Amino acid sequence: MTFQELNLIVPIQKALAEEGYTQPTPIQEQAIPIALQGKDVLGCAQTGTGKTAAFAIPILQLLHGTKAGKPNHHISSLILTPTRELALQIGESFDAYGKYTGIRNQVIFGGVGQHQQTQGLKRGTDVLIATPGRLLDLIDQGFIDLRNIEIFVLDEADRMLDMGFINDVKKLLRKLPAKKQTLFFSATMPKDIQELANTILHNPTKVAVTPVSSTVEIIAQSVYYVEKPDKKDLLRHILSDSSIASALVFTRTKHGANKVEKDLNAVGIRSEAIHGNKSQNARQAALSNFKSGKTRVLVATDIAARGIDVDQLSHVINFELPNVPETYVHRIGRTGRAGATGVAISFCDTEERAFLKDINKLIAKQIPIVDEHPFKVKIDGKAAAALAAVEAATHKPAPPSSARNKDRKSYWQKRRSGGGGNKGGNNANRPPRANS
Ligand code: AMP
Repeated sequence: MTFQELNLIVPIQKALAEEGYTQPTPIQEQAIPIALQGKDVLGCAQTGTGKTAAFAIPILQLLHGTKAGKPNHHISSLILTPTRELALQIGESFDAYGKYTGIRNQVIFGGVGQHQQTQGLKRGTDVLIATPGRLLDLIDQGFIDLRNIEIFVLDEADRMLDMGFINDVKKLLRKLPAKKQTLFFSATMPKDIQELANTILHNPTKVAVTPVSSTVEIIAQSVYYVEKPDKKDLLRHILSDSSIASALVFTRTKHGANKVEKDLNAVGIRSEAIHGNKSQNARQAALSNFKSGKTRVLVATDIAARGIDVDQLSHVINFELPNVPETYVHRIGRTGRAGATGVAISFCDTEERAFLKDINKLIAKQIPIVDEHPFKVKIDGKAAAALAAVEAATHKPAPPSSARNKDRKSYWQKRRSGGGGNKGGNNANRPPRANS
């Protein structure tokens, strides 16, 4: 299928061609025609599947149809998304796909001064992309009026809930007009998300793709057994391979991220860390240095890395394994995007072997172990006993073991076994987006 066959207007087709997009991704193929008909969509898809364009393109086309030639810009579409990074990326996508439509967008999020954002709002915008807290704040201050919303997008609904935004979301829903089109996206559809969707969607059409298993399959994964104190040397050793142009390194804690950053810079490997304690400006600067290739290594905690979309990221390195196995899949999904191949390397110390077991179980395969490396674990009596304890332990559910996680697990399992409506299959022919 081509974008032309989706009946897109020429200004959008031209912009997509400039982005190097030759054909729609499966989620785009499914969602765009429905959204263009003005219908509600319940989309099960995560970042990396092209879901941003799946909602941005129809919004741009619909608003272009109603607003063409009108000089006033009032907020007609609201995109609610959980993180600042995602908000910025969605804004960039609207800029790119909408550059010949005359449709304006404005991004607002917390953690930075509001002046620039309110100035932008005063100039007028058609599409507002927002995180919940700052949006409520600016509504309360009278800068934003949502009464004219025609199209509403709730993006990454499951993360919205995970991050504790449910009350803010509910508050915002009450401020939207009853008559509107709603596009609802979530990577997973556990019961609480399904219930939320039921309350806000009218007769929705369901669309779904399975990014995770395909992502996992095109990424070359490996694991290094290493003791905790040797991890930093192993990281340097791996990064001494100059063919690794850029790497996203994950740690479990903010403190850990700072330490890794310091260690790498001390040996001349340019790196920056992003985590929740850094100001929004520092995070953005670090991200753009990484994207432009100024820094070779970005060290990140999971929250800070949510939804980061770095073109042509070849390597993800798990300096520490996550204790929630789904997080592993999200992390390695930062590479191998839009059909590109990727490499995911994980360090695993003795204490983390139980996490590795959970991950192998979730992805339904054993991540290959790299045996030959200078920091191989020497199995002395103590290590052998620790390993035996891990082996003997019955499978421990990864904390937190909420009902929600159980739902998720069955979701992933269903996906792996081919359940759910993935129509599209292989995205391998899609070129990565050109650096913007
Ligand atoms: P998203 O899931 O929206 O975060 O998109 C993931 C990546 O895929 C981004 O880098 C997009 O620029 C890219 N992308 C989205 N749609 C297409 C397409 N039709 N062809 C090629 N790349 C795309």
